[in-house]
Amino acid sequence: MKFMGNKVPDSEENANRCLCPTCPTYKKSQLSGTLFCGRGKAQQKPIQTGCLCPNCPVWKQYSLDSMYYCAMGKSEEL
Ligand code: SF4
Ligand code: SF4
Repeated sequence: MKFMGNKVPDSEENANRCLCPTCPTYKKSQLSGTLFCGRGKAQQKPIQTGCLCPNCPVWKQYSLDSMYYCAMGKSEEL
């Protein structure tokens, strides 16, 4: 049996709460987009220099358990 992460709804409310745009990896890698845990990987390849997901209200609300969704993809597929 494979354990998957929880699904994060792709909503404007969740996108507006996402901390990704303030994160060191996001800035260093010049990523675009947001809510990677719900929408999937970033188009650009992330250079992983820290992840703020565990501090994020979306992460807490949906009881997520991973990090670096910009590189790994949607929570529900992990
Ligand atoms: S958990 Fe991470 S990817 Fe998901 S909304 Fe928060 S900061 Fe963005
Ligand atoms: S998923 Fe994590 S590492 Fe990637 S941009 Fe969002 S906060 Fe930063």
